[in-house]
Amino acid sequence: MGWAGWVRTEMRDGAKDRLRRRGEEPHTYKRMLSPIAEGTCAVLGVAGAVGLAAGGYAYASLWPGSAIFGRTMTAPRRAGELALTFDDGPNPAWTPKLLDVLAEHEIRATFFMLGGRAQAQPALVKRVVEAGHVVGNHSWSHPNLARTATSKVREELTRTKDVLEQNSGKPVKYFRPPFGARRPVVFKIARELGMTVVTWNAMTSDWSEPSGDRIAAALMKKIDGLEQRGYATNIVLHDGGHREPAAARGASVAAAGKLAERYDRTHTFVTLDQW
Ligand SMILES: [Zn+2]
Repeated sequence: MGWAGWVRTEMRDGAKDRLRRRGEEPHTYKRMLSPIAEGTCAVLGVAGAVGLAAGGYAYASLWPGSAIFGRTMTAPRRAGELALTFDDGPNPAWTPKLLDVLAEHEIRATFFMLGGRAQAQPALVKRVVEAGHVVGNHSWSHPNLARTATSKVREELTRTKDVLEQNSGKPVKYFRPPFGARRPVVFKIARELGMTVVTWNAMTSDWSEPSGDRIAAALMKKIDGLEQRGYATNIVLHDGGHREPAAARGASVAAAGKLAERYDRTHTFVTLDQW
């Protein structure tokens, strides 16, 4: 467990209205977990998270629900819809197994791939797209973009978009920043490249939890809570790992299967282009 605390967002009325129009919930105060606690494949140390969390800038650059730095897509006010998203792949060891699970339930999902991994696994990128899933950009090498030079941010996003489009044959329209970390120039570059910045509203530490049941249970709690408040859920699981190309992701794949079993008769699984 990492640092946690309450962070005042000081959102103005205009900003609240904009959030409401987009179907997101405005908060004056929001419980902020560090990226470590909230599960963003953390490399920022606890000390770094506490330091960053000292002001509004930290809130805006690290909290997935923050809209201060530009328009982001999280999840609409549409209870009953679930978007499964998978980050840090493609992973030659586990992505094919995940594709089998999704196919069994006829579920389409969104895969936020790393450019470096996609370049190494072109056939796998093709297979994901041919199965009807949407592919999004998750940078080339998974840096913390809140602390990356502008020229490097542009290179990370552009190279990845190019490789994904070459391998998938389709335009890449979505970008999810590694660790959820971002700053205004990241939005500007993503927009220039024709991509919407995507966050999430349900994640757990699936990359470090060995039990698929426990991962699924933690996510179900979040899904059911959002549902009660009238929201769709944008769920993050990891089919890859930004440190190892063939990271063990059996528990995450099992959790995806559990979510499919629990919700596929009562809910609609959507890809992000349906939002
Ligand atoms: Zn990631």
